[in-house]
Amino acid sequence: MSAAQKDPYRGYRGPAREVMKKFGITVWCEVRAKTTRGEFEGLVLPRSETSDELHLVLKLTSGYNVGIRHDTVLDLTKVGYREAHYQIPEKEFPTDAGHPEVKLLGTGGTIASRLDYRTGAVIPAFSPGELYGSVPELAEICNLETEKLFGVFSENMGPEQYLILAEKTGEAIKEGFDGVVIGHGTDTMHHTAAALSFMVQKPPVPIIMVGSQRSSDRPSSDAAQNLINATWAAGHGPIAEVMVCMFGPTSDLYNLLHRGTRVRKMHSSVRSTFRTLGDIPLATVEKGKLTPIKDDWLPRRDDKDVLVQAAFDERVTLTYYYPGMNADVVDALVEKGYKGIVIAGTGLGHVNRLIYLALERAREAGVQVYMTLQTLWGFVQMHVYETGREILELGVIPLANMLPEVAYIKLGWALGVHPDDPEKVKELMTTSVAGEVTEREPHDGYLIFQGGIPEVQEFLEKVWR
Ligand code: ASP
Repeated sequence: MSAAQKDPYRGYRGPAREVMKKFGITVWCEVRAKTTRGEFEGLVLPRSETSDELHLVLKLTSGYNVGIRHDTVLDLTKVGYREAHYQIPEKEFPTDAGHPEVKLLGTGGTIASRLDYRTGAVIPAFSPGELYGSVPELAEICNLETEKLFGVFSENMGPEQYLILAEKTGEAIKEGFDGVVIGHGTDTMHHTAAALSFMVQKPPVPIIMVGSQRSSDRPSSDAAQNLINATWAAGHGPIAEVMVCMFGPTSDLYNLLHRGTRVRKMHSSVRSTFRTLGDIPLATVEKGKLTPIKDDWLPRRDDKDVLVQAAFDERVTLTYYYPGMNADVVDALVEKGYKGIVIAGTGLGHVNRLIYLALERAREAGVQVYMTLQTLWGFVQMHVYETGREILELGVIPLANMLPEVAYIKLGWALGVHPDDPEKVKELMTTSVAGEVTEREPHDGYLIFQGGIPEVQEFLEKVWR
């Protein structure tokens, strides 16, 4: 152990250190803190050398960290001592000849993270082997082989990683695995799910993306449940598609399986953040039971055939239209050599007149422009209003109810697959390849709870447990 690690005031300097000394407190003490801003109970965490000199950091029992300014402290009482060791040993996965073989590909994200108590940050340092070490139930579900491809938070996933992931997923299928699970950060999981849906088509086995909103050191972590259900669905489930498996309701009753091209992260922090949009989820999964909700899914097969088309042209972009957008935004993209633009338009697929000329210039430069919707639900319908008809005449191609992010990913992929054939790109963009466009949206799909409305209240009372 280094001298810094032995320091009982690790990372604390100046007035924060003084207040600890005054009340006989060191790092890893469980304390009751009386402050001018209320009472707190929690564990005193070490701090990094670069943190400020003014605050004590407590990890509360809820799992949240709170900073307490030294000059608000009235009293600190030590109620215990608990040195936290968050290094989980890598464990070799036990095998059972009767279990399905599942491949877990790690890319990073909170599910592969633990809290770094030195900096207070969540760091991607949780290898797939450690992951098993902390969720031993996995051994009752399948024989798991793990491979860490990347260790990044998902904002750092992108085309380069999509291609590697698609190839690795294809390899696992050809090697004969009964299912593939991909651990991923939740923030951009829906982009990667879309990329895999196009790049790895008609797989014979489930390909399931999973993540967690809360890291595994927090009592309310969803990591274990998500991983258990995802692994079960991959090894035993009958649906052979690219899917996302995350918390369903706000409680830990079950997980939902969402089709990879119809899913989106919809809340920054709640665990049931993933929702199927424009459709309903494919199935629920809980405690070794998968219950389909829809019936149009592709079933598991015995062969190892899969169409891997790992290609992506990065000269594509997604532009979120806003009133007042100027033409130079579109012109700049064309000048910079972008080959494809997906617009997330308002209403039924609209943009203002200011950018019409720029759209025309884009068409003349051979840049393909597609229209999707900011509303996320519903279809692009450009024949209803004059605006829509005018935009259609400028060569903008409507994409029905394809989600904006999915359209962006699909366009990058389509241009990658057909680099020299714009007509083929258009044909591919307007043909549903992996459920990215549905014929209609179900009446029981669009359901957003707005608290207090009588019919919602009545519904909640019936189903809330
Ligand atoms: N920022 C994290 C990520 O997307 C969040 C998470 O994993 O939930 O990588």
